[in-house]
Amino acid sequence: MNTRIALLAAACTLALAACGDKSPATPDTTAAATAPTEAVETAPADTAAPAEAPAPVDAAAPAPAAAASGSDKPAAVVADCATEIEGTDAMQFNVGSIVVPASCTEFKITLKHTGTMPVAAMGHNVVITKAADMQAVAAEGMGAGAAAAYVKADDPRVIAHTSLIGGGETTSVSFAVSKIKDGGPYEFFCSFPGHSALMKGTIAVE
Ligand code: ZN
Repeated sequence: MNTRIALLAAACTLALAACGDKSPATPDTTAAATAPTEAVETAPADTAAPAEAPAPVDAAAPAPAAAASGSDKPAAVVADCATEIEGTDAMQFNVGSIVVPASCTEFKITLKHTGTMPVAAMGHNVVITKAADMQAVAAEGMGAGAAAAYVKADDPRVIAHTSLIGGGETTSVSFAVSKIKDGGPYEFFCSFPGHSALMKGTIAVE
């Protein structure tokens, strides 16, 4: 018994060594990589099932990140406790979320209107509130009118807001990060009448 086990062990060791020494890693990997591809391309019914299985997992990987932000738009690029986002003539922000680094004390948002339409027709601003306050603040902002840039004066629910701008213009606002550290979720949106349905995103401290 002992001898047999020893022989088996020796044989295994040799086999392992042989494998290791041969180490045709590249051809093996290539074969392994091309095989599934061929299987997918020829795609008979029975190979399709295992071939499809990993595909949705890969495809789903980026999806939760986008879903978490509540938008299919990318997150804003943040550097030095600041970010620049864009608003367009198509009534869209170019980002769906802003992540404020917890290490920042102040954060600056610059809004660039990349369109050409005048402020009266396609005005944009950035207003930050709790997500729960967004609709009411937008509605009351509309009531405040264009002269107030669609933000009700001294609204305590408004954490920060930029001025209202038209095509080709740029505006910015800075605010204390502590204001959005707790009590969220918070959102940023454009309070121009009707725009917040499309022009909104999440803003969070991480
Ligand atoms: Zn707008």
